[in-house]
Amino acid sequence: LTEHNARHVWHPMAHPAEMRANPPTIISAGEGAEIIDVDGKRLLDGVGGLWNVNLGYSCDPVKQAITTQLGELPYYSAFRGTTNGPLIELSVALAEFFAADGMVRSFFTSGGSDSVETALRLARQFHKLNGQPERTKFVSLKKGYHGTHFGGASVNGNQNFRRAYEPLLPGTIHLASPYTYRNPFNTDDPKVLADSIARQFADEIAFHGADTIAALIMEPVLGAGGVIVPHESLMPALRALCDKHGILLIADEVITAFGRTGAWSGSRLWGVKPDMMCTAKAITNGYFPFGAVMIGEKVTEVFENDRTAMGSIGHGYTYSGHPVGAAAAIVCLAETVKQDLATNAAERGIELLEGLETLKARYPLVGDVRGKGLMCALELVSNRDDKAPAAKDKVAQVYKGAYEAGVMIRTSGNNIILSPTLIISKQDVSRILEALEAGLKSAAN
Ligand code: PMP
Repeated sequence: LTEHNARHVWHPMAHPAEMRANPPTIISAGEGAEIIDVDGKRLLDGVGGLWNVNLGYSCDPVKQAITTQLGELPYYSAFRGTTNGPLIELSVALAEFFAADGMVRSFFTSGGSDSVETALRLARQFHKLNGQPERTKFVSLKKGYHGTHFGGASVNGNQNFRRAYEPLLPGTIHLASPYTYRNPFNTDDPKVLADSIARQFADEIAFHGADTIAALIMEPVLGAGGVIVPHESLMPALRALCDKHGILLIADEVITAFGRTGAWSGSRLWGVKPDMMCTAKAITNGYFPFGAVMIGEKVTEVFENDRTAMGSIGHGYTYSGHPVGAAAAIVCLAETVKQDLATNAAERGIELLEGLETLKARYPLVGDVRGKGLMCALELVSNRDDKAPAAKDKVAQVYKGAYEAGVMIRTSGNNIILSPTLIISKQDVSRILEALEAGLKSAAN
């Protein structure tokens, strides 16, 4: 298998030649909060699949819903003329779940990148319908991650995901990241940093002209950029500027929706109602590729009141509203609420973060610790004074040490990312911390 993998598979974000030198672990099974590799080694999954397997690997009601739906209607198009029952039932459940976020309508997709692309397109179309066709630009945050499509790549705040594909969308504006550990404002005070970013947004609006900007897109807690938790004032301050200048706010909640941060949505964590929310990942617990863009009243109304051809969405996917994905999502949503995963994420998240702080105190390799709920990161440095990122082999040693101690973690540059399933216990948190310590110890030697 390893040889076939090296020869024929091209993995995301990996160099093809790397597959021979450093073959990936083949995962063959999952059970509860654990995964099992092809050699039978059991690992506590500190990654939660890829931030998405919130309910773990043994959620039988979801598996049952998928099997039943496959038996009844495995697929039919949900374009204008036809629809299906699970899709309608899910849209009602989602509107209820996200009512506190002001969301009323769902547009279904096959994943996070599709959700971002859809929201960006809807934002431009909204302004065109509203008689402001010049509002075409997008604003985002550095270190934000918004998927791989050309729109999402354009608003991505990481050059590594953009460089090879430029030129991207013109007129994309990147504000600073709320990354307290390193930032151009040279402040380690998160509130000062949030105020500076809000001022930067106001400056950019003045410079470009509000009537050229369609939307601001941001993650309530930045994920792939290294788990960056903004000060609580940032999102409300940016929301206020959007309101003042007629700019839409798109919350990219592909990771943060459904409880991961300890709140049911990341926007709710900060008391903000966005105009649209991009979701995917945990919507089906990773069991089926699926996503939804949640749309608020303000956007819906403009489309509903328009009677021209422009008012229909000229955008859709073969798998928009896939009945099997919808059936899975209905049960995931019910299980997520029934098991109160947000509370467990909040409680276990506090324990995990405390443990990570202890590791930081013990190991100089750890420069920074960040987290909210079960979204955490350790940033590894070779020198705490100049914050120089740790060498690749040190990061790899931590990964290997944790793996040998029975916990799967994820590395991203010089960050260790932790996003376990939301069903983990207090004992599982200790297991993650012990394994990380084993990894840090081996890297320190
Ligand atoms: N937005 C965010 C915030 C994400 O984290 C991701 C994926 N990690 C995406 C968009 C893209 O989602 P997908 O990989 O399902 O296309």
